[in-house]
Amino acid sequence: MLPVEEASSIILGLVQPFDKQLDAEVVDLSGAIGRVLASSVTSQLDFPHWDNSAMDGYAVRYTDVQACSTEEPVVLEIVEEIPAGYQPQVSIQPGQASRILTGACMPMGADTVVIQERTRREENSVFILEAPEPQAFVRHRGAFYEAGGQLLKPGIRLGATEIAVLAAVQSTKLTVYRRPRVAILSTGDELVTPDQPLQPGQIVDSNQYALAALVTQMGGTPQRLGIVPDEPEALKEAISQAIFSADIVLSTGGVSVGDYDYVDQILAQLGAELHIRSVAVKPGKPLTVATFPSPLHREEPGRSVLYFGLPGNPVSAMVSCWRFVQPALAKLSGLPEEDWSPMFVQARSLHDLRSDGKRETYLWGQLGVNTAGTYEFQLAGGSHSSGNLISLAQTNGLAVVPVGKTHIPQGELIQVLLTGLPLKIG
Ligand code: AMP
Ligand code: MG
Repeated sequence: MLPVEEASSIILGLVQPFDKQLDAEVVDLSGAIGRVLASSVTSQLDFPHWDNSAMDGYAVRYTDVQACSTEEPVVLEIVEEIPAGYQPQVSIQPGQASRILTGACMPMGADTVVIQERTRREENSVFILEAPEPQAFVRHRGAFYEAGGQLLKPGIRLGATEIAVLAAVQSTKLTVYRRPRVAILSTGDELVTPDQPLQPGQIVDSNQYALAALVTQMGGTPQRLGIVPDEPEALKEAISQAIFSADIVLSTGGVSVGDYDYVDQILAQLGAELHIRSVAVKPGKPLTVATFPSPLHREEPGRSVLYFGLPGNPVSAMVSCWRFVQPALAKLSGLPEEDWSPMFVQARSLHDLRSDGKRETYLWGQLGVNTAGTYEFQLAGGSHSSGNLISLAQTNGLAVVPVGKTHIPQGELIQVLLTGLPLKIG
């Protein structure tokens, strides 16, 4: 049994990230959300695009108004009204000002905006009641971004803020990495699909749906290959199909030491190289990790297909996915190294946590932020058996009990692996 950290670094070592050319595609802005940039973005537009006013007020020459005060206001002639979107026509001469609105272009000759609250208007004249700072309330062209510079670097996952920036600088075609293709198959004679009537002894194949959902959340494209019976020939056929089309294959079940656990044997027969057989983790001990040489139809030389034989127990399968598959997908997707490993948060445990001390143990529950702004972890109720899938619902984290520890008392600080967003509590 490999320690978790060791297994995790072996897995990452097997992943070759997407290639900037071979694995990139161009998408438009509306299709870019959640995608990973494959090349840096530069724009030919400065931001702001033009010198413009940050406030409603008057565009003036600083030298005209630098000495004014409420007692001795400066009176300027208003020569133009400049709403946003209008190109100023008049250049400001000494003794003149233009009425200007937020976001509107600065007129030639003016260098400063006096906000309207510091002025009094009388017909075509404006009284400046307070000296502004030089260049006050002017957003200068290119102050936030200069055309030609790097705006966004490769490896960024595009979220709402990046989409906003890209839209603002009219970068509407983005080169992003393709989504990783993840084939998913469930093994087991006992399995039926969720819409099939259950015969005595049968079990619903929830893993197929759970893993497809996780893969989607992680930015991959799941390819659901269905249920495969515990028959060597059927498994061989299904696995061959999976490695033909996918970057990563996830199978569940059939990797323990039971009489019907054929997966490892078939992987070897199909020419896979086996790297991991089991990991000192609970839940999730039986974990097979193998690689297949890249199928011949692929253009990417040297890229192998990564195979995860996950345990069949539904909780174990998901925990293995969060702990081991997610980092592999992150690296493959082109994300930078700091984004590969799962996110751990330090939290105070609201319960006693127990383990046998032999394996790194993950206990699921809710990570919340209390009213004081600190993290607390509440263990999910019910049994923490790896078959108790039901208690996983509404959880967002896995408390880690390290090897060698059998008990973490309530109130201690623990590490929690985030599987969702923290909740508000209290
Ligand atoms: P296995 O690893 O094949 O021995 O399976 C371990 C346990 O997980 C058994 O109780 C299986 O019935 C259950 N199981 C296996 N595959 C699935 C699946 N796809 N969905 C739900 N439960 C499963
Ligand atoms: Mg099985």
